[in-house]
Amino acid sequence: MKQSKLFTKVQKNIPKDEVSINAQLLIQAGFIDKEMAGVYSLLPLGLRVVNRIENIIREEVNAIGGQEIFMPALQPKENWEKTGRWNSMDDLYKVEDSSGKKMALGPTHEEVVVPLVQKFVNSYKDFPFAAYQFQNKFRMELRAKSGILRGREFMMKDLYSFHLDEKDLDEYYEKSKDTYFKIFERCGLKDQTYMTFASGGSFSKYSHEFQTVTPAGEDTIHICQKCRLAINKEIKSETEKCPECGGTDFKEEKAIEVGNIFKLMNKYSKPFGLAVQNEKGENQEIVMGCYGIGLGRLMGTIVEVYHDEKGMIWPEAVAPFKVHLISLGQNEKAQEIYDALSKDGIEVLFDDRDISAGAKFAESDIIGIPNRVVVSEKSLAAGGVEIKKRSEKESEVIKIQDLIDRLK
Ligand code: ATP
Ligand code: MG
Repeated sequence: MKQSKLFTKVQKNIPKDEVSINAQLLIQAGFIDKEMAGVYSLLPLGLRVVNRIENIIREEVNAIGGQEIFMPALQPKENWEKTGRWNSMDDLYKVEDSSGKKMALGPTHEEVVVPLVQKFVNSYKDFPFAAYQFQNKFRMELRAKSGILRGREFMMKDLYSFHLDEKDLDEYYEKSKDTYFKIFERCGLKDQTYMTFASGGSFSKYSHEFQTVTPAGEDTIHICQKCRLAINKEIKSETEKCPECGGTDFKEEKAIEVGNIFKLMNKYSKPFGLAVQNEKGENQEIVMGCYGIGLGRLMGTIVEVYHDEKGMIWPEAVAPFKVHLISLGQNEKAQEIYDALSKDGIEVLFDDRDISAGAKFAESDIIGIPNRVVVSEKSLAAGGVEIKKRSEKESEVIKIQDLIDRLK
C-alpha cells in the first residue's frame, strides 16, 4: 500500500485525553480512533493487526475442532431473564424499541448459544462439540481509562464447548490451555504471559486467566517461582501454596488479562434445560466450558509490551505490514522494489510521499513496522538499499537482488 493513498495520518502529538500508552500510540499512529470513552474505530492499520490476530486465533481454535459461527449482538430479554442475568448483571446494556420490546446488547453469548444449540441436538451422539465466534461485546464498564484494554464495545473471540460429562469437559479444557499458549506465543507474548489460577465461581474450583506481565496491567498476579504458573489476587488471599506444585515462593507482577477459560458445568444448560438422552436412555444434562480472548485488548497489550520512546515495535506475526519501504527522492527505483516485493507476496507500506527524510523516519518509528527499507541516492551509491529492523539500532546496506531473500 502506498502511504500517499492512506487516508489516515500520523499525528504530530499524542492525544491529550488518553492516559494509557496503548491508546496514545495507536491513536497517534492512526491505527484506531476514539469515538467516545471506551469506544474506538479500527482504521486501516489497526484493522490489519486485528485481522492478523483473528487469523491466528481462528487457526488454533479450528485445530481443536471449533466451528465458527456468528451470533447477534442484539438479544431478547427473555433469554436473559431465564438465567437471571437481566437483573444481576450490572454492566448489561439494555435497549428498548419503539414498541416497548426490551433487548440486551450482548456482553457475552451464553444466553444465545445455549438455546441455539438446543435446536439442533437430540442425542448423546451429537456430543461433544464446540462453537465459537468473533463478535463485538457491549459492557457498561465504569473505568474505561485503559484505552482499548477496557472498551465498552470490544471484540471478543468466545468459544463454547458442550460435553456429556465432566471428564470430557476436563479433557477439552486441558487442550484449550495448550491452544491458548500457542495463540499468545504466536502473537509474540510467550515470555510475558502466565497461566493464572483464578476463582472458578460456585461451579468449579478454579478457572484460568492468561495474564501478560506489563506495568500497564490492571491486575496483580503472583508468579510461582517453581513452576511458572501464577495465581491471581483472589486466590492468593485464600492460599499460601501454588495449587499446581505446592511452591510457596511467589513474585508479584502487574498484568493484563488477555484471555480466560472457565468450566461453566451446567450453569447455563440448566436454566434452558439443555439435556439429551444418554446411552442408557436416561436424561442427561449437558456440561459446558467457555473460553474468551479480547482481540482489541490483545492488540493493546502487544503495544504495551512492545514499544520504546519513539513508538510501537510490532512482532512480525501481527504487524500491519512486514516492510516499511521509504524512498528519499528515489521514487522510481523504490517503485520497482515495491512491485517486486508485492509480486512475491511480501506486504509493504511504501512511503512515497514528498516530505522530509526526518519526518519519514520519525513516522516510521511511531508506526513500528518490523523491517524498514530505505532507498536513497546514498544507499544506491553504496550498492543497494539500507535495511534495518525496528527493534535494532544499526542499519546495513544490502544489494537489491538480496532483499527478497533477506525478508523471507
Ligand atoms: P476483566 O476482569 O478484565 O473485566 P472479564 O473477566 O470481565 O475481564 P471475560 O468476561 O472473561 O472478562 O471476557 C473474556 C476476555 O475478553 C477477557 O479475558 C479479556 O481479554 C476480554 N475483555 C473483557 N472485558 C473487556 C473489555 N471491557 N474490553 C476489552 N476486552 C475485554
Ligand atoms: Mg469484566
